[in-house]
Amino acid sequence: MKRITIAIDGHSSCGKSTMAKDLAREIGYVYIDTGAMYRAVTLYALRAGLISGEQIDEEGLRSHMDDIAITFTFNPETGRPDTYLNGECVEREIRTLEVSQHVSQVAALGFVREAMVDQQRRMGEAKGVIMDGRDIGTVVFPNAELKVFVTASAAIRAQRRYDELRAKGEDCNYDEILHNVEERDRIDSTREISPLRQAPDAIVLDNSHLTIEEQKLWLLAQYRKAAGEE
Ligand code: C5P
Repeated sequence: MKRITIAIDGHSSCGKSTMAKDLAREIGYVYIDTGAMYRAVTLYALRAGLISGEQIDEEGLRSHMDDIAITFTFNPETGRPDTYLNGECVEREIRTLEVSQHVSQVAALGFVREAMVDQQRRMGEAKGVIMDGRDIGTVVFPNAELKVFVTASAAIRAQRRYDELRAKGEDCNYDEILHNVEERDRIDSTREISPLRQAPDAIVLDNSHLTIEEQKLWLLAQYRKAAGEE
């Protein structure tokens, strides 16, 4: 079967990464979580004191971009890749609400997107890759053989994120998470550079009422069709 590029885009917290990771494992593809890359840049900026309140020190961050190395290492315990920032595993640190509250502003900066998109294209050039994000099918790999656009209602997405954070033992508040989900959708969809858009040739999946198993089977069927198995 031919090796293809699979682009999974969509709204925040709609389970894109779960379905992408599961499929990658099943078919032996490399999975790349591009949101984790923007989150790692945000964590770096927070730690370096380049963000205060709503303000980002853009010039400061621009001058630090060459000092930010983001890599992924497969974790055999979880069966999934962990995100590393300059050699440190930050998989947990990048998922906090604090990072979620600033990431969309950081991801709207042109120089940040340029650096990340460049790296994403290099990571995916050999094909056999599943990438999830906001602009994969529109900007990073506009020629991807399979493009999926995932969505679900904001209330359902917030509930899933809430359950996920609670399961990790984090103290969180549903209303705050719902606000964050809606706010990230708004910033991601209205930014000037590479806004969140459904590619015209993407297949839409509203997974509001699907189980993880159902969406996994759905994606596997789409992959088989696109890669030429049936
Ligand atoms: O996918 P995740 O929710 O972890 O992404 C975090 C944030 O990173 C998104 O809200 C969005 O602002 C940004 N992002 C992006 N482009 C991508 C992936 C993520 O702008 N390809």
